[in-house]
Amino acid sequence: MTKLMVFIDGTWLYSNLRHLAKESNQTGFYIDYGSLPHVLKAELEKRAKLKEMDLVRTFLFGSYPVNYDIMDEDRAKRRKDFFTLLREDYHYEVESFPIDYQRRRILHDDRDGEDTFSPREKCVDIALASSMLYYAAIPDGFDVALAVIGDKDYFPLLQKVRQLGKRVAVASIRQSCAKMYSDRQDEKHLKDYHIIWLNDMVESVAWKPEEWTVECKSPLHEGPREKLTTIRLREGQPFFCDECRAKFAEQKAEQMREFTSAGLENGLVPHDDTETLEGKFHEGVIDNLKPDRGFGFIRREDGQSFFFHVTHLTNAEWSSLQTGQKARFTVTKLPAGAQAGSAGDVTILATEES
Ligand SMILES: [Zn+2]
Repeated sequence: MTKLMVFIDGTWLYSNLRHLAKESNQTGFYIDYGSLPHVLKAELEKRAKLKEMDLVRTFLFGSYPVNYDIMDEDRAKRRKDFFTLLREDYHYEVESFPIDYQRRRILHDDRDGEDTFSPREKCVDIALASSMLYYAAIPDGFDVALAVIGDKDYFPLLQKVRQLGKRVAVASIRQSCAKMYSDRQDEKHLKDYHIIWLNDMVESVAWKPEEWTVECKSPLHEGPREKLTTIRLREGQPFFCDECRAKFAEQKAEQMREFTSAGLENGLVPHDDTETLEGKFHEGVIDNLKPDRGFGFIRREDGQSFFFHVTHLTNAEWSSLQTGQKARFTVTKLPAGAQAGSAGDVTILATEES
């Protein structure tokens, strides 16, 4: 059986979805990542007049924000949840890399007009190229690589993969595709099949939302808790309705602002390298807890403090928290000057028996 691997430039696809959305009749167009590789495989089988191919693996390469403004926490978390969903539900191989926002807002439009900051993505294209070349070079990797790409940077990769005797297919989006990929003469010898346009398969790759009823778990919720939603929840993940999410965001931002203007008691704290943000856990003790306001701080041994909110707790009820308890946490924003950093998932550690 012909072995197929699919390699998706997730960053490119994500930033060009709007073109597909325009062509679909669906409001709120999203790609159904569960069916995407299978739809592409079926299309390729049709073109190549191949009998059924064996879809061995799907890779997606993307990035996620770190060190961003706390206002964007929900946005950043959705990105993380999306990668988790791809791994857990659809068995994608996801390789993702952090983008340091230097404590700024994630969307350009939310940033100060005079701010010239432009976030730098790292590694995504090289990671895709390395993976494809690796599986092209090892025995029994794949026979056909399908690249879901648009940037012209990938052309040397496709050439090399073909020089290794493998076949290459390209799927892209008309409005964002380097000409050489769609060139029917294929002067650069990049592919073995005509290009596949995602534009022509919008209906079959569109996510068809299903609605179900869930209960909002927010302590701030008003009115009936049962809500219709299309949001997919991971096992054990509590649901918060849109109104409550908005309230949380406001509450958190307000608390953070207030805290920032008050300053930290211990004055200036040293900067940490942003490396510290990458999927690492930190430990500290609960400090400066505001039980009635739903937030507190965790102080690390080196004196650096991290803000956390009731929504960050992963394993404890807010009402059971006490100052001095040990906690493990991820860092979503580094401390800077007199400002605290902020914590992500906070796990309360069991007190050691004495
Ligand atoms: Zn709610």
